[in-house]
Amino acid sequence: MIPLDQHPSGRHFLQIPGPSPVPDRILRAMSLPTIDHRGPEFAHLGKKVIAGLQQVFQTRHPVAIYPASGTGAWEAALVNVLSAGDSVLMFETGHFATLWQKMALRLGLKPEFLSVPGTCASTGLPLAWRRGVDAGLIEQRLRADAGHSIKAVCVVHNETSTGVTSDIAAVRRAIDAARHPALLLVDTISGLASAEYRHDDWGVDVTVSGSQKGLMLPPGISFNALSPKALEASKTATLPRAFWAWDEIVEMNKTGYWPYTPNTNLLYGLSEALDMLLEQGLPAVFARHQRWAEGVRTAVKSWGLPIQCADPAVYSPVLTGVVTPVGVDADQLRRLIHDRFDLSLGTGLGRVKGRMFRIGHLGDCNDLTLMAALSGVEMGFKLSGVPIAGSGVMAAMDWFAAHPAQQPLQAAA
Ligand SMILES: *Cc1c(COP(=O)(O)O)cnc(C)c1O
Repeated sequence: MIPLDQHPSGRHFLQIPGPSPVPDRILRAMSLPTIDHRGPEFAHLGKKVIAGLQQVFQTRHPVAIYPASGTGAWEAALVNVLSAGDSVLMFETGHFATLWQKMALRLGLKPEFLSVPGTCASTGLPLAWRRGVDAGLIEQRLRADAGHSIKAVCVVHNETSTGVTSDIAAVRRAIDAARHPALLLVDTISGLASAEYRHDDWGVDVTVSGSQKGLMLPPGISFNALSPKALEASKTATLPRAFWAWDEIVEMNKTGYWPYTPNTNLLYGLSEALDMLLEQGLPAVFARHQRWAEGVRTAVKSWGLPIQCADPAVYSPVLTGVVTPVGVDADQLRRLIHDRFDLSLGTGLGRVKGRMFRIGHLGDCNDLTLMAALSGVEMGFKLSGVPIAGSGVMAAMDWFAAHPAQQPLQAAA
């Protein structure tokens, strides 16, 4: 272990799918002096970040900001709109969907966990962890719930443990087709500001997100984007809530303040991140991640290894899961790559532990940081004796060279 202040040379390659590498511009913004959170300058900052977040969530409605990790915003979403013993319909897409379901149980809710059964013949991995949300199954289940006992449908948009981005508009259509009044709660903690996301157009009632993934910030703040229907439901929901309660936050946010001390320096960072994202334009931001993802997948395909996501229609633009051959411990491989090349890759979580690793392509990246990450992985394969079909590095170099970014990095002289 190298102490952080004694790093020998070069830089660490943080290629995990969150926390993502933070741009220097954001780190500098966060180093400004902390100000009075009840003072006049603060209101300007507060109003600015909320207005910017509304653009990123693509909503006209309130967005609550919590000084908490994404897990806190998960809890906030559930406790504001539900009551003890309420049934909620959740969908197993991977580790994060599973953790949200466990939280619902702990809170005294009755989660029903829809899942595609079985294991994949070629990899031995759970089928459910290789695909997205099946909106058809949700529609079927809601149609069977004639008494409307299900109060909410909860799904993960970008499942960070597998690299699958589910179709949220299709889930909304399924709920509407079943003429069911359930609320739609979506976790896009790792999808926001990397993958297309439309809170209002997709009819989402509560969107949960966090700072340390696509927003390119350090961990520490998280969000609930609300709908009028969710705000209405919060008036009659009875799960205990105090710190997470929307009413006081939404009311005070109107003037740019919070009922408690907000995370001032992370809000400086958020303000800078929003400037960067909105200056570039969301379509360009999404295209950039799609392009990186395709370059990385080109490498994985050349190695001859399975991509964790088995359905190309829902490949994640945020990260790519790489399944290691049977008998190769993915965590041992990751450790070797970390120790030899100062490169961090995401570990396999839950039901796929040891069977796969994850390459993050989000945050402060470019073609060359991704090429460096792919080189580290390929050298790791060689050092560990993992057989690969061909050079993913060569294939990705060719792919990136042949597919220039739509938006040039610098205007031509
Ligand atoms: C990171 C992540 C979480 C957990 O967020 P924390 O900030 O670690 O609490 C939940 N869901 C998804 C999809 C994530 O990517």
